Amino acid sequence: IIILGIESSCDDTSAAVLKNGYLLSNIIASQKVHEAYGGVVPELASRAHQQNIVPVVDQAIKQAGIDRKDISAVAFTRGPGLLGSLLVGTSFAKGYALAAGVPMIEINHLQGHVLAHFLKEDGAENREPKFPHLCLLVSGGNSQIILVKDHLEMEVIGQTIDDAAGEAFDKCAKVMGMPYPGGPLIDRLAKEGNPDAFQFAKPQIKDLDYSFSGLKTSFLYFLRDQLKENENFIEENKPDLCASLQRTIIEILMKKLVKACKETGIREVTVAGGVSANSGLQNALREEAAKRKWNLFIPKFAFTMDNAAMIAMTGHYKYLNNEFAEMDAVPFARMNIQE
Ligand code: ATP
Ligand code: FE
Repeated sequence: IIILGIESSCDDTSAAVLKNGYLLSNIIASQKVHEAYGGVVPELASRAHQQNIVPVVDQAIKQAGIDRKDISAVAFTRGPGLLGSLLVGTSFAKGYALAAGVPMIEINHLQGHVLAHFLKEDGAENREPKFPHLCLLVSGGNSQIILVKDHLEMEVIGQTIDDAAGEAFDKCAKVMGMPYPGGPLIDRLAKEGNPDAFQFAKPQIKDLDYSFSGLKTSFLYFLRDQLKENENFIEENKPDLCASLQRTIIEILMKKLVKACKETGIREVTVAGGVSANSGLQNALREEAAKRKWNLFIPKFAFTMDNAAMIAMTGHYKYLNNEFAEMDAVPFARMNIQE
């Protein structure tokens, strides 16, 4: 089975080729145009996808070293994401499927993030989590704890009631005058700062749910007060601010994850999504895993961000299940993990 995967849900155009679960290529074209705007500009994202998609797919096929006519199916992200961005990938997939005479498979982007842990690569260790396992999905649009019962059977058991963890990173970075996306920059600066320098509000939310909007407000008000006393406060304290903010976000995330493991009795744990690249979060997960005897899975960097490899991987399982899309499939901006 050879799956061509297409991902265009947000600001990365990506194409990947997967053969029997083994990754042959994974090309990601990230869009730089959004940096100056403090967030992804949907209109600019769709245009960039439109420019990138053909060369990115070409390169993925070339790098995979396969013959185009051996592709079994094309898997594309149907949602959730930005509608204009999704339309580019969806339309491309339809055109490709029609021209090549192969079936099309629609993929839920969130399932893709979760299934990135099943990607196999030549020469790699290729461990994979057993079922059931818990996945902490932390990205720009979602913060969820997912009970993964099987490859295509997932249940959200906890989720944010407002902002996502990635949004908390990005919005607080914006307040400090940093470019988008702020998450990776905060991660870098936090390494030079004192994580206990400042205290910010932590939410009291019930069950396994998260909330990050209070932290954002607490951060904003704290800075506003400090700037009244010292207009250079941010510049003079950036590493400490980043380290303290990051510590707070990690503590919020870990508390509910630990609770979920205790309540379900599951010790097979994975983390996924853009924020799973955060070095502080990875360290906290490793510490907790050692302490609580979790079997922990952290994705390699290329699989934390949006990528078509995870879309192709999900496509592989849907192909085995004979789950194909109709030619009139339309993208959805909003989708639950089981839709
Ligand atoms: P979704 O998958 O929910 O639709 P998305 O696709 O926009 O959202 P991803 O691409 O998975 O999200 O993740 C992007 C987010 O990850 C951004 O908010 C970014 O700041 C954050 N991020 C990336 N690297 C790091 C890091 N090292 N530390 C913290 N946050 C990070
Ligand atoms: Fe994503």
